[in-house]
Amino acid sequence: ATAAEVLGTHTREVPDFPTPGVVFKDLSPLFRDPEAFATVLADIGDRWRGKVDVVAGIEARGFIIGAPLAQAMGVGFVPIRKAGKLPGETHTRSYDLEYGEATIEVAADAFVPGCTVLLVDDVLATGGTAAAAAELIERAGARVTALEVLLELSFLHGRERLPGRELHAIQVD
Ligand code: 5GP
Repeated sequence: ATAAEVLGTHTREVPDFPTPGVVFKDLSPLFRDPEAFATVLADIGDRWRGKVDVVAGIEARGFIIGAPLAQAMGVGFVPIRKAGKLPGETHTRSYDLEYGEATIEVAADAFVPGCTVLLVDDVLATGGTAAAAAELIERAGARVTALEVLLELSFLHGRERLPGRELHAIQVD
């Protein structure tokens, strides 16, 4: 099966989570199936191997994907974390959510200046998180070569918040 087919059979739709009216795409069935997860990781790795110096993942599901992906690609992994979790000096960026604000951070010494980064997460929804993470990585002195998500919720138009950026999604809903 292709990576897109595997995603189709390993995504659970959860109505009214986290709030009424939202249909949450739960990728836990993918992560708990080693063969299916390997198919998806191989697809991403084959696309970007040799093209980036680092994989960065967004807390928390971007860690689940990003760390094994980085290992398979033979590059390092950098976590983009929620505020207050990282020790030492950090770069910080806040962005708007539907209700309120979120803040993400990266270690100030995470990147060799000018290195190229593949930014990964599970789902692209409104694009706010990915846009903020890409700006944060650039503030920390690296270059975002591309963004990769397993699933893009195209009806939320997140791609429009990432103008000029290379964005690949395995599955587009
Ligand atoms: P955005 O900032 O694009 O609106 O939201 C994206 C972030 O929220 C990602 O970090 C993603 O993990 C999470 N997210 C939003 N909607 C969903 C969803 O339906 N399923 C999953 N698994 N994550 C979601």
